Amino acid sequence: MANSEPDDMLSAREENRLIKAGQRVLLEGGYPNPNRVACPGVEALKGLAQRKADLRQSEQAVLHIGGCSPCFIEYTALQKQATRRKTVELVLASAALLILAVVGGWAWKTHMPYQKVTVDLRNRLILRGDQVPSATSGPIQLPRGRLDLTVLLAKGSRPGNYGVQVSTELEKTLIATTGVAVNQNGITALNVKLDVSKLGPGGYLLAIGEAGHERREYPLVVK
Ligand SMILES: [Zn+2]
Repeated sequence: MANSEPDDMLSAREENRLIKAGQRVLLEGGYPNPNRVACPGVEALKGLAQRKADLRQSEQAVLHIGGCSPCFIEYTALQKQATRRKTVELVLASAALLILAVVGGWAWKTHMPYQKVTVDLRNRLILRGDQVPSATSGPIQLPRGRLDLTVLLAKGSRPGNYGVQVSTELEKTLIATTGVAVNQNGITALNVKLDVSKLGPGGYLLAIGEAGHERREYPLVVK
């Protein structure tokens, strides 16, 4: 009990300093948000302030608090209630580290670029049917990653909405997405964002088909 007083005073001073810093940024000409757009709500704030919420799952709320004065004020008040003065310093320091980690992870995920890849299917062998194998009959090769894929579709393909699926060679669908094909100088070009970063290297099937029509399947190798 005897030496708890200096700790308390230091914590209080630290806390005040942080709150003042927050006030400068958020309260005075900061982020007013009078209509409380996209606010996570008091229960979410309470969960964060009391460290009951999973910060990883609450990253949107954490980011939101940093850019919304009313939420920052509520959060600060709730945190004061929730936190014993003796542990204020530690909790704030670990919270700051967590927020840095969360924001860092978020920035990395958001800004990881899409890699532009073009696949030419205009002379490809199709798996079913009895086309004669041609020079371009080998599997489509794609790098592992988040791909901004342009597919030059077989001659006669119509512009419009297309479904794109990646499945195992046993036809278990792993990725299903859609894209829009447009006519570019007589070539039907389908643009689709395809994230194959989580697939292991190996052989797959790539199925492409106009919405409501038969799909065409091509062997695919992810490198
Ligand atoms: Zn808010």
